[in-house]
Amino acid sequence: MLIFKLVYWTAFIVEIIIRAPFQKSYQASTKTAQRTSRTEQILLTLLTVSTGLLPLIYSVTKWFNFANYSLPAWIGWLGVLILACALLVFARAHADLKTNWSPSLEIFEGHTLITNGIYAHIRHPMYVTLWLAGIAQPLLIQNWIAGPIGLVCAALFYFLRVDAEEKMMLETFGDPYLEYMKKTGGIIPKF
Ligand code: SAH
Repeated sequence: MLIFKLVYWTAFIVEIIIRAPFQKSYQASTKTAQRTSRTEQILLTLLTVSTGLLPLIYSVTKWFNFANYSLPAWIGWLGVLILACALLVFARAHADLKTNWSPSLEIFEGHTLITNGIYAHIRHPMYVTLWLAGIAQPLLIQNWIAGPIGLVCAALFYFLRVDAEEKMMLETFGDPYLEYMKKTGGIIPKF
């Protein structure tokens, strides 16, 4: 349905707008450690293709029409709800992480360990967004080529990145990060 495509692209643009100021400060910052591996570059490219390029081809051409599927309307609306939650978490995480955000694994001059706001409950709210958006994608982009691939790439990205990120944070911040890990969950809060 057209409405679900429109919701998908609106959320996509809103994410770019939320991130824009942080992207700007990231470019201006001095990096003191960079762990950008080849695997990570491949993962970031895969994410761009699976959440951007393939849904774009699906939305503006008829090339993938042979692989369309059709879900009941309520499932599409569930996708809208999940994507709205993803955006809320995304906005809150950026507001809390501030200029400590980076697209790949990096540490900046003056990097501070954030343990407040949404980070007081979970260590990886931006990856929660990734999971939620990955789940919403096949509900909104109802096509076997451009829909489920978002979730597959989100899962790959998460599992290949999260351990390396926590290792880097432990090496940089030491015991305070270890303490922080004890008190918080990764993507689900600890009760
Ligand atoms: N994993 C986090 C952050 C993603 S952005 C999330 O899902 O919200 C990735 C960068 O954020 C990493 O390179 C690291 O430098 C930084 N980072 C991650 N957790 C942080 C924290 N608690 N405080 C400060 N910087 C953090």
